[in-house]
Amino acid sequence: MLSENIKNIYNKMAHAAVRAGRNPEDVKLIAVTKGVEAGVIKKASTLGLNEFGENRVQEAEKKVSGLQLQAASGKIRWHLIGHLQKNKARIAVELFDLIQSVDSLELAEAINRHAEKKGKVQRILIQVKLSDEESKYGISKDNVLSLFERIGGLRNLRPEGLMTIPPFFDDPEKVRPYFRELREIRAEAEKEGSGLPELSMGMSNDFEVAIEEGATMVRIGTAIFGERNKKQE
Ligand SMILES: *Cc1c(COP(=O)(O)O)cnc(C)c1O
Repeated sequence: MLSENIKNIYNKMAHAAVRAGRNPEDVKLIAVTKGVEAGVIKKASTLGLNEFGENRVQEAEKKVSGLQLQAASGKIRWHLIGHLQKNKARIAVELFDLIQSVDSLELAEAINRHAEKKGKVQRILIQVKLSDEESKYGISKDNVLSLFERIGGLRNLRPEGLMTIPPFFDDPEKVRPYFRELREIRAEAEKEGSGLPELSMGMSNDFEVAIEEGATMVRIGTAIFGERNKKQE
């Protein structure tokens, strides 16, 4: 049941934070709603969830406009967590509070251009790829610092941190080194310039380990909404 799932997750999140000597309030739950119907999202929003993550611009567009969640409550925030094509940057800037999947200068420039036209400062995260899986997007860790440097000149972007999608393992302990690595990359990047508070890492299977390693945002779908249709990925 939705309310039970949400309660369980908040509980586990709080315990993980306390185990790591962190304040549970420093970790946000992003409910991943790909493949989830608008009606269910609305229900979730009445149960206290107010940050939602979508993978695809087109799917999000239908939901955001259909639900008018943003209009109904100023507190609802939408995150783009899937790959963004440059030609969808304009719509992404319209729809999303935080674009978590920026992984190239070209994409950053496109977002910046549209944000400037709209008079918006777009919050972004840089997506880092820590494994050599073919299928994953993200910038390689060796290029993170230079990307931040270049993005520094784009005045309508506000980089707030890093995001990663590590390889999947049944055993979440196997994912821990990836989470730790992302935190270390952030520390390196922060030495070079401004603060990067956000670390978006951890999903249904491994969010507790991610929180122990410093996650400030966990992105959880299945553990809240149940198994989704895999075609939605
Ligand atoms: C689907 C997805 C999630 C959520 O995964 P679950 O295992 O369902 O919790 C998190 N992040 C990204 C980028 C996703 O695509």
